[in-house]
Amino acid sequence: MLRLIKNFFIVFGNIFRKPHTIIYPRERIIIPDGSRGVLHLKVDPDSLEIICKGCGLCKIICSQGCITVQKRAEDKGREVLDEFCLDLSKCIFCGNCVEFCKMNAIDMSYKYQLAEFDKKNLKLEKTELVKPSGTIRDFW
Ligand code: SF4
Ligand code: SF4
Repeated sequence: MLRLIKNFFIVFGNIFRKPHTIIYPRERIIIPDGSRGVLHLKVDPDSLEIICKGCGLCKIICSQGCITVQKRAEDKGREVLDEFCLDLSKCIFCGNCVEFCKMNAIDMSYKYQLAEFDKKNLKLEKTELVKPSGTIRDFW
């Protein structure tokens, strides 16, 4: 009987408690710090060039095989990134590629709204990955 009364007050109290869930997308909350969204190719703030030199380590490390990377040599033998493609349909947002990049050339953005009708739109080229959208914490 005592247990029944106790449960009644718990349930009654819940009526006045603030809900833990939100009605997305009408309501939004701040994305937690350290959340992992789409991979982002970083740019050197001085030269404004993509930092990645196309060494391919991230491609080897990625267990899902979602990174394609290619480098090319310029006139003076300097190696630069030619192609960098991320297949978002395979990415599990583990962050291993970021961890292993010795040049600190990539990071995980806060970009999370990733629904697409066409699967081919989930293949992101370097021009898309270099965009700063999602690099700053936003609301969801
Ligand atoms: S992102 Fe880093 S690990 Fe991947 S190819 Fe570029 S420099 Fe190499
Ligand atoms: S976050 Fe993980 S799954 Fe996605 S590209 Fe990087 S290593 Fe691959």
